[in-house]
Amino acid sequence: MDYDFHEQYRVKPGQSVSLAKLPTTTNGPFPKKSHGRAFTAGKVEELRDWQFRLYTQARQSLLIVLQAPDAAGKDGLIRKVLGQMNPQGCRTYPFKVPTAIERAHDFLWRIHQCTPAHGTVAIFNRSHYEDVLVVRVENLVAEKVWRKRYDQINHFEEMLHDSGTKILKIYLHISREEQLRRFEKRLKNPAKHWKLNPSDYTSRADWAAYAEAYEEVFTRCNSERSPWFIIPADRKWYRDAAVAAIVAETFEKMNPQFPEADVDLEQIRHLHQQAEAAIG
Ligand code: ADP
Repeated sequence: MDYDFHEQYRVKPGQSVSLAKLPTTTNGPFPKKSHGRAFTAGKVEELRDWQFRLYTQARQSLLIVLQAPDAAGKDGLIRKVLGQMNPQGCRTYPFKVPTAIERAHDFLWRIHQCTPAHGTVAIFNRSHYEDVLVVRVENLVAEKVWRKRYDQINHFEEMLHDSGTKILKIYLHISREEQLRRFEKRLKNPAKHWKLNPSDYTSRADWAAYAEAYEEVFTRCNSERSPWFIIPADRKWYRDAAVAAIVAETFEKMNPQFPEADVDLEQIRHLHQQAEAAIG
């Protein structure tokens, strides 16, 4: 398909973002939902193949950061797309309200323990960005503390990049109306009651403050090496298709290849023939 999801949704370095002006609903290049779903299924196969190559090559790693308002679909995206990679080389890490031990360390301490080893993929369900988002909006630490964190995050991500980790940061962009519809559905569905939390409504009331906090992140913590992507996420099937395409393209650029054999293949062939002959 001749549609560049990567370029379409990548925040360009230096670009200032106004979330309210960016679409939350689109069909992109797909005439119908079924086309989008078929596309995603194909991309998931590609992701599996790339991830296997990355794993065998074991020289670079991929970190996918997911951030979004409540009910924007991080869990669904992980379940349907990103979590389809082989768990042998791919792990998801959710970051919740920090524990007492985590709070007693610097804000990147708990994050750094979860960054992906060479050959593996890590998916962050929320991340170090919470420390300049919820922390900022809810005044959890002094402004002079969180203000320094943009630079600290940039240095941290640069260090990861220099150590062979490609970083991909994805923001799922939903409308306030769609969020309310999803909350309502959760209220009606007993299987989803566990997801409901009064704090969802508090954050919802702070929509504009969160938008402002995110916009500063997109301006200050975005680079060619460590880019943000803003994905229209009101349509779940489109969200899945766009993210699957962007991750596949990232893998393609990383271009992991199966390593060369480091044994003498001629000798192994010879041993193989001998073994076959012995069986008769
Ligand atoms: P999720 O919404 O990701 O599915 P939860 O409902 O358990 O999971 O919410 C996790 C909560 O943890 C969110 O409200 C989020 O803002 C909060 N959180 C994550 N990181 C931090 C942090 N560094 N400081 C304060 N709160 C945080």
